[in-house]
Amino acid sequence: MSEKFDVIIVGAGPAGNAAAYTLAKAGLKVLQLERGEYPGSKNVQGAILYANSLERIIPDFREHAPLERHLIEQRMWMMEENSFFGAHYRSEEFNTTPGNRYTIIRARFDKWFSEQAQSAGALLICEMTVKSLLRNEQGRVIGVEVEREDGKIYADAVILADGVNSLLATRAGLRSDIKPDHVALAVKEMIFLPRETIEARFNLSGLGGVAIEMLGSITAGMVGTGFLYTNKDSLSIGVGGMLGDMRAQKLTPYELLEKMKAHPSIAPLIAGGETREYAAHLLPEGGYKALPQLYGDGWLMVGDSAGFVNSVHREGSNLAMESGRMAAETLIELLQAGQAPSAAHLARYQAKLDESFVMKDMKKYRNVPETLHTQRQFINDYPLLFNGAAHRFFTVDGRDKQSKEKEIVATFVQRRSLFGLLGDAFKLWRATR
Ligand SMILES: Cc1cc2nc3c(=O)[nH]c(=O)nc-3n(C[C@H](O)[C@H](O)[C@H](O)COP(=O)(O)OP(=O)(O)OC[C@H]3O[C@@H](n4cnc5c(N)ncnc54)[C@H](O)[C@@H]3O)c2cc1C
Repeated sequence: MSEKFDVIIVGAGPAGNAAAYTLAKAGLKVLQLERGEYPGSKNVQGAILYANSLERIIPDFREHAPLERHLIEQRMWMMEENSFFGAHYRSEEFNTTPGNRYTIIRARFDKWFSEQAQSAGALLICEMTVKSLLRNEQGRVIGVEVEREDGKIYADAVILADGVNSLLATRAGLRSDIKPDHVALAVKEMIFLPRETIEARFNLSGLGGVAIEMLGSITAGMVGTGFLYTNKDSLSIGVGGMLGDMRAQKLTPYELLEKMKAHPSIAPLIAGGETREYAAHLLPEGGYKALPQLYGDGWLMVGDSAGFVNSVHREGSNLAMESGRMAAETLIELLQAGQAPSAAHLARYQAKLDESFVMKDMKKYRNVPETLHTQRQFINDYPLLFNGAAHRFFTVDGRDKQSKEKEIVATFVQRRSLFGLLGDAFKLWRATR
């Protein structure tokens, strides 16, 4: 391809599509390269879409995007082998106001998002893997090389939106190899059931939906979580844990998922369903402290390739869209003003991120990965203790309630000691400040 582009975007996930749409809409000449057969063909997500981030890019997306259900109820479960201790929040307001969180199916959603970018003028080429970045003599990135003969393509700037592995960034020395303690491996299944069955089991009507997030015994002591989300006529169920833990415990994600599906509180929800899709994928969970340099001469990094995942709130696709949009807006400002996309000028991208919730949230939870990694009591002891306390409290057996309360407190102190409990409360507070 002898043509030169204003911007080349590597990857057509939410980050790449947000960037492509924003740039093309502003009239820039955009080339997007995707290694998959079509956008979304290789992508995995729970998947909850956070409307606010998409709304900033395509305000009327609700009218035509392939959405499944808008969430009206959130359940948080601390799992033990035969029980869960949980909190549920459900509000009718989520039914009467425009949806805030939707379940989606990524293969359909990414395709739709990419079509919007193409309609705005971006050129997309699929089944095209980018193998390296091209640099000029001064070291500025001036294009990419794809896995084709004569595969050099030139542009003023390159956006790396190629996801968690980003071999491209690693090969180019822009990022170090991702560490097993900074990345989670998650597996997900789509289980199909008649729509009426899903609605009856989850107490739903219309297009309202439920999300269940889980932690505790389902990850067998590993730092990780599980989820179960309702789609129109399917359920998305998955579980993941840190890659380092999985290696150490010699556990496969498949084994974890099978065990989770057999849990007595989960099995009835999925009973009779037909599993049609199974996928595994990595998630960058190193947090703020693992973020690489996000821009340089002629290049910017967005989404998972930059490590933008808020694992505490299960947010990733929205951070991908926000960072994609902000990278695009930075380039629009520079290129339209005739300024070169040098590292000094691209520092504006970092400034935009710093001012946004993306970096503020990443910063807020900067100590969480380390805390969870070294303080396993939050994953192992507390789910056990809360489930045990609830069991004791709700079993009516002729003993008075005050004695039971004393027993519950004594069990907590016995397991963690008074200083241990106070210390844990402090660690939790510190990890989220
Ligand atoms: C099991 C699971 C559940 C999740 N659940 C949620 C959730 O409910 N909500 C949420 O917000 N987030 C969730 N996430 C996180 C979310 O999926 C990611 O944060 C999001 O997909 C990141 O988008 P991205 O565009 O940066 O990367 P990706 O979606 O990974 O897209 C990268 C694209 O780049 C392409 N690519 C890679 N290398 C090359 C190359 N060399 N050349 C050309 N193309 C290339 C890939 O094929 C892919 O299409 C979940 C993740 C997992 C694994």
